[in-house]
Amino acid sequence: MLTNPLTKNISSENIAATIEQYVENDGYQGWRKAITMVPDSIINEVKDAGLRGRGGAGFNTGLKWSFVPRGEDSPKQKYIVCNADEMEPGAFKDRLLMERDPHLLLEGMAIAAYAIGASHAYIFIRGEYHLAANRLEQAIDEAKQQGMIGENIFDSGFNLEICLHRSAGNYICGEETALLNALEGKRAIPRAKPPFPQVSGLWGKPTVVNNVETLCNLPHLISHGVEWYKNLSRGDDAGSKIFGVSGKVNNPGAWELPMGTPIRDIIEQHAGGMKDGLQLKGILPGGGSTDFLGPDHLDLPMDYDVIGKAGSRMGTGTITVLDDKTCPVGLVLNLTQFFARESCGWCTPCRDGLPWAVKILERIESGQGTKEDLELLREQCERIGPGNTFCALAPGAAEPIQSALKLFEQDFIDHIEGGCCPYK
Ligand code: SF4
Repeated sequence: MLTNPLTKNISSENIAATIEQYVENDGYQGWRKAITMVPDSIINEVKDAGLRGRGGAGFNTGLKWSFVPRGEDSPKQKYIVCNADEMEPGAFKDRLLMERDPHLLLEGMAIAAYAIGASHAYIFIRGEYHLAANRLEQAIDEAKQQGMIGENIFDSGFNLEICLHRSAGNYICGEETALLNALEGKRAIPRAKPPFPQVSGLWGKPTVVNNVETLCNLPHLISHGVEWYKNLSRGDDAGSKIFGVSGKVNNPGAWELPMGTPIRDIIEQHAGGMKDGLQLKGILPGGGSTDFLGPDHLDLPMDYDVIGKAGSRMGTGTITVLDDKTCPVGLVLNLTQFFARESCGWCTPCRDGLPWAVKILERIESGQGTKEDLELLREQCERIGPGNTFCALAPGAAEPIQSALKLFEQDFIDHIEGGCCPYK
């Protein structure tokens, strides 16, 4: 992420910045400044800047850090964990950041670690992200050699070790407490909260888990200050954001843009609009576990609360576009198969409910469904909805199904009445 919001497609080049190039472009200046500051004032700046977690939840990052116990009688060992287990269908922004700009992430982690008093940090990276992992390993070595991390950094007396951990694989590892279990070598299932990780996280010690993009916001925020950061935005939420578009558009990719950029600008201006005369039928604004929005929502700004009020979630900010020649039932079936496969199996509504939803969707998609199946599918979504499961995986999986049943109901009926998929 750069000083000025970038409009170039960041997925178009696949070259990692070396530490020399990074330093030449003012890299590690935020870290050099942060280490001269009082940790509490870093936490307050990040809180005041309004940086919201870019992993999907959108929680205020500085506020999250402020829950870590401080003071003489607090545990000495604390941890920063970078959640790089990007596996949400349609999401690819963290991979690009790690592959192209690994030192930006390391710098952000160093600032976060210093702010909460952590001398150890882990990057928990999706197992399939081989290129990103290799580049991060190289960047960690370079940063150690140049004294950016390691012992007595910049003669401050502060030590920081950063370790890379490659995930054995599973979508649920992206849930922060399941991630901590996996990092400890245990079965990756979510933990009951409270206690929250900030109080009792990795090996029972205070731990902050932050997303890759969240951490990548820190160096420039600290270098340029709160007002500069806030003013990057066009909307109510502060800063810039990596927005992405996949689907049948002319120029799929990812761009760093002001927070609050209208969806239409992202799709038409940056992604080049729909391909080959196709019409936009709907979008998943922030990954496969968000509700569909329709063409009438295109002028909304991409802000957490605005998208929330419209009935969806900004999630990862990587938009999946559905066109008028792609079957929405097939798309939802594909997503539900993914979530059913990735259920950790800990609670019954998700473990059994998602495969049941898959069976109903398969019947409808193949033309074997009945009108009663639509009601059954709606009921099934309620059973796996918020409050009925141990974590947010199953309610998230229900979001595209429920919203598709509302927005594209006629497509479901056409499958049932026609006895086949009308898109084939
Ligand atoms: Fe596991 Fe699914 Fe229950 Fe979450 S909702 S704990 S993923 S079974």
